[in-house]
Amino acid sequence: MHKWVYKFGFGEADGNASMRDKLGGKGANLAEMNKLGISVPPGFTISTDVCDYYYENNKTYPEELKEQVNLAINDIEEKLKTNFGGSDNPLLVSVRSGSRASMPGMMDTVLNLGLNDKTVLALAKASDDERFAYDSYRRFIQMYSDIVLEIPHEDFEEILEEEKISNNCILDTDLQTENMKNLVERYKEHILNKTNNTFPQDPIAQLWGAISAVFNSWKNQRAVTYRKLNDIPDSWGTAVNIQSMVFGNMGNDCCTGVAFTRNPSNGFSEIYGEFLINAQGEDVVAGIRTPQPLSKKEVLKANSKEKSLEELMPEIFDQLLAVFKKLEAHYKDMQDIEFTIQKNKLWILQTRSGKRTTSAALKIAVDLVNEKLISKKEALIRIKPETLEHLLHPALDPKANKKVITKGLPASPGAASGEIVFTADEAESLSKEGHAVILVRSETSPEDIHGMHAAKGILTARGGMTSHAAVVARGMGRPCVSGASEIFIDEKNKIMKINNNTYKYKDTITINGSTGEVIEGAVETVQPKLSENFNTIMKWSEELKKLNIRTNAETPEDVLIAKKFGAEGIGLCRTEHMFFDANRILFMREMILSKSISERKKALAKLEPFQKEDFKKIFTIMHGLPVTIRLLDPPLHEFLPKIDEDNTQLLELTGLSSSELESRIEQLEELNPMLGHRGSRLAITFPEIYEMQCKAIFEAASEVYKKTSIPPKVEIMIPLIFSKQELDIIKKSIIDLANQIKKTDKNFVDFLIGTMIELPRAALVADKIAVSADFFSFGTNDLTQTTYGISRDDSGRFLDSYIEKQILDTDPFVSIDESGVGKLIEIATSSAKKTNPEIKLGICGEHGGDPKSVLFCHKQKLDYVSCSPFRIPIAKLAAAQAAINET
Ligand code: PEP
Ligand code: MG
Repeated sequence: MHKWVYKFGFGEADGNASMRDKLGGKGANLAEMNKLGISVPPGFTISTDVCDYYYENNKTYPEELKEQVNLAINDIEEKLKTNFGGSDNPLLVSVRSGSRASMPGMMDTVLNLGLNDKTVLALAKASDDERFAYDSYRRFIQMYSDIVLEIPHEDFEEILEEEKISNNCILDTDLQTENMKNLVERYKEHILNKTNNTFPQDPIAQLWGAISAVFNSWKNQRAVTYRKLNDIPDSWGTAVNIQSMVFGNMGNDCCTGVAFTRNPSNGFSEIYGEFLINAQGEDVVAGIRTPQPLSKKEVLKANSKEKSLEELMPEIFDQLLAVFKKLEAHYKDMQDIEFTIQKNKLWILQTRSGKRTTSAALKIAVDLVNEKLISKKEALIRIKPETLEHLLHPALDPKANKKVITKGLPASPGAASGEIVFTADEAESLSKEGHAVILVRSETSPEDIHGMHAAKGILTARGGMTSHAAVVARGMGRPCVSGASEIFIDEKNKIMKINNNTYKYKDTITINGSTGEVIEGAVETVQPKLSENFNTIMKWSEELKKLNIRTNAETPEDVLIAKKFGAEGIGLCRTEHMFFDANRILFMREMILSKSISERKKALAKLEPFQKEDFKKIFTIMHGLPVTIRLLDPPLHEFLPKIDEDNTQLLELTGLSSSELESRIEQLEELNPMLGHRGSRLAITFPEIYEMQCKAIFEAASEVYKKTSIPPKVEIMIPLIFSKQELDIIKKSIIDLANQIKKTDKNFVDFLIGTMIELPRAALVADKIAVSADFFSFGTNDLTQTTYGISRDDSGRFLDSYIEKQILDTDPFVSIDESGVGKLIEIATSSAKKTNPEIKLGICGEHGGDPKSVLFCHKQKLDYVSCSPFRIPIAKLAAAQAAINET
């Protein structure tokens, strides 16, 4: 018989931590904690196999499941001496999701299941607390109705609010037993009105309703979005965990809390957590009441008037610390733990590897290596390369003037300025239009995930350091200020009030997630200082990686940044980009418009000094590291003047009349400029262009060599060729020019000549081209465009539909399409090495900074990847991970 159900409790478990695939993260860890001797309320996990079955069989269950669930329930009843649905000592359970990868808050949870009109009386008797019993019952009805019966949560919140107002209560905790009983009746009435059915009283029927709701929630919109954002496959499915309830809301000797074993904001090794006396778990995470810090130190830091757990329950606090230590040592990672104290007894409800900011991730990784808990390789594997980019973003300039309008909790570090929006949808639509936005909410919930992703920063009026907003923002790398309690949000009128000031929708504010400050207007920023931990991670990556990491840069400013980030050379200097500057583009246009060689040479002569000066600066900065200069490859439409622009200067310069200019522009306009007169096509027809460029390169290299005594490593690269003949013709004219200059220049610096492989034909005849090339650099932007026959400039309009319809997994312009474009690279690489074993191979399309594509390049044994300066650390770490995974 297939095993669908895995039990755990009282130090025994059917599963263990290695069974994440079957039991999900939560289930596997609950099993493991039992084996470690940690107090976990007993329960069982329905495996992810059932989720697969459920979706493959029209939302039905395997035959044996019912019996296995019944047996598991009986087992808990026996162990706890309770009774599911009984009128004495009733067993209540929680039903929670749990997939392989943590997806906090994305799927559904039901607590207090098993309560009905009969068991609520039994619970009141067993707990000797009638108010608690009815509070639990009304919470259960509310949650169950929302999740299983799909009656909106707000309906019940409204009824609750009415009850509070009519009884002069401010907090939920002010409500008395009679109010709770009243609420239960009003909730049940509402359900009857809405569904024409009474609230289900049979606990087994309740249980199956909740199990199905959890499986259904695997495909709810927010879970689907979260998986998309986090690269979690839809095929994984979720497990369902059914666990006996323990109560943090049974009085003032009870509480519930969330804790991280290290600080998830900065990585420091210190307790970081919160708790609420007399409350259930969802109260902490939802941010409805602001929780108290766990330790004395945190209370002091937060300037809180409340007492810490350390002061209120010192013995249990010590037990909690011992559990933290045990779990960290066992899992060798920072843990995020949920606990409940019921009548002075500590229960651990969950442990998982804690979400953390990027800087915390680096500090924790480095510290764990120093504490000898993990190896350098393990440390590197744990860091997601893409997240390093968060550290490179600007921080607020400490010297800038700023008007702080209020303060909240520093929930996720970093700073962001943007326009105020009040809903996730507004955040998404405005950011699509190119606006930077700050999402301002009373509190966030999982429905807001798309807006949080679209926003530059998040500000909430309620919620603590472990509220939904704080946890999700840290995981996403968005700055966040939470619990800024002076803010009053009026969502209907799209305003927020802070004391006597009013801020409207689209007003600009700045938040500083490192200090909790909320500031009026935008604030100037400065480049961040990279931490010691960052440098250590980069150093370890360098020790382990095989690929070299170069950069795509052409302005001396960008080259400097790239060098600072550790570029090991320039893989692509796009020379046409050196002419975008206002006073240079004029001469570039003069060159494009010229009708004769002599006119063109005149314009080129004006461009040459700019080129030479830039090359000199770049060679100097790169200090003997390789510099690949790609000769001119301007898609014409990017450089042609526009007829309706002010072209006075150009008319003066060229001596053309307006109508002559217009007709010249019309003549030059191409129907398909991306496949038009660009790259080597330009050099074949107008050889004088590359001649000017090479002269500038040779002279610049020679002068830098003379000045610094370090010869620049020059690599000249020809774009967009499709045959060996093209390359040979262009190469010959460059070599002829070099030989001529060499005769008189004793500092002449030797150079390599190579080509880009950007067209399928070039890849297919690579064996021939390789005979004439010192190196190849795969231009995967154009190679993807020409392999797919999809314009790289227009693909944004339709590729999303391809991804939604799962025709494509990812955008092929972002991550290399291994089976198509990758196949061409594979063919070109292996055939080129046959005819030219010495050939150097690299890649310089945007893919060079994409971790998945870096892994592919490593497997292809390329010599380097080249990417934009800000992606260098990402590519370095990805290259190290590729090398580590190979061993
Ligand atoms: C490419 O095509 O991949 C490339 C790097 O060149 P460009 O983006 O300048 O066309
Ligand atoms: Mg190209």
